[in-house]
Amino acid sequence: MPTMPGLVFVGNSQAELREFALPEPGPTEVLIRIRASGLCGSDLHSYRSPGGLREPGSGEFIVAGHEPAGVVERVGALVTSFVPGDRVLAYHILGCGGCHNCRLGYPVSCTSPSKKAYGGQRNGGHAEFMTAEERSLIALPPQVSFIDGATVACGTSTAYAASRRAAVVPGDRVLITGLGPVGLAVALFCSDLGAEVIGVDPNTERAEFAKRYGVHQAITESDAGAALERLAELTDGRGTSVSIECSGTDSGRSLCLRAASGWGRVVFVGFGGTALTINAAEVLILKQLSLYGSWVSSLAQMEDVVEVLRARDLHPDAMVTGQYTLEGAAEAYQAFDGGSIGKLVVVS
Ligand SMILES: [Zn+2]
Ligand SMILES: [Zn+2]
Repeated sequence: MPTMPGLVFVGNSQAELREFALPEPGPTEVLIRIRASGLCGSDLHSYRSPGGLREPGSGEFIVAGHEPAGVVERVGALVTSFVPGDRVLAYHILGCGGCHNCRLGYPVSCTSPSKKAYGGQRNGGHAEFMTAEERSLIALPPQVSFIDGATVACGTSTAYAASRRAAVVPGDRVLITGLGPVGLAVALFCSDLGAEVIGVDPNTERAEFAKRYGVHQAITESDAGAALERLAELTDGRGTSVSIECSGTDSGRSLCLRAASGWGRVVFVGFGGTALTINAAEVLILKQLSLYGSWVSSLAQMEDVVEVLRARDLHPDAMVTGQYTLEGAAEAYQAFDGGSIGKLVVVS
């Protein structure tokens, strides 16, 4: 039986290559030859966990990586929209297709127990090949690189959906807290839309890096009061018309709310934190704020992201600071876990 190497998380921040059977696409699936497979912040939860990343039920290790892009190698008998040679990315969650959220185009919010993430509950992109259902696929035009496409499969689309939720328009003053890959992609879209972008990250290296990708002003004060004071200086005391929280911390959420100007729009995207305590009257009601939660994107939005990248000549791949082969992928996770700057990808 032909085999291929795939990266698994064995637990306690250890990753290693294991041999897997070369997958066969089912009737409604395609086999993708992986060309780029991104590392995403949410992978770190299973990477760091004692049990690693295993298939529910069987307990077998599964291939990690939920930002896959590549070339269609083979298609199942019932596949109609893709042929071998097509460039594609896969939306990283496979929903049931039938529940209300799936019908809305949000597999990420699928309510069925059959919901599976590629690189979560079934094999993902850190391997030579991956099978995906046809309905997960989004075509990649030649102007959009495989690395661009890999980032679209999760992080860049998450950023796009958050900017859309905030209805960013030219002239908006946008605060972004947390300048990891999602925060950087938010900056890319918002600056392209003609907004003034202020980024906050206590990591000075990250903040400096972000200035190359759409962040016009960076704030590195870790003390909330000092950061707020700096924001007031930068906005002539008016605050920001849009705040997008990408750090997943309660301090970031609090700063986003407190920095928002009257009638501001605030979007929480970053996962994490515990319990946020705010003075709702002061920071929400009196300021007439709109507060949204945004989780990943719809399938249609993911298609839109690819088109926006092509039409606007935007390239999230420019934020990639580390490209690793599959053989070096374990090293990539070590660097990522250590707080790397920018985006890391496994390429082949
Ligand atoms: Zn992700
Ligand atoms: Zn569903």
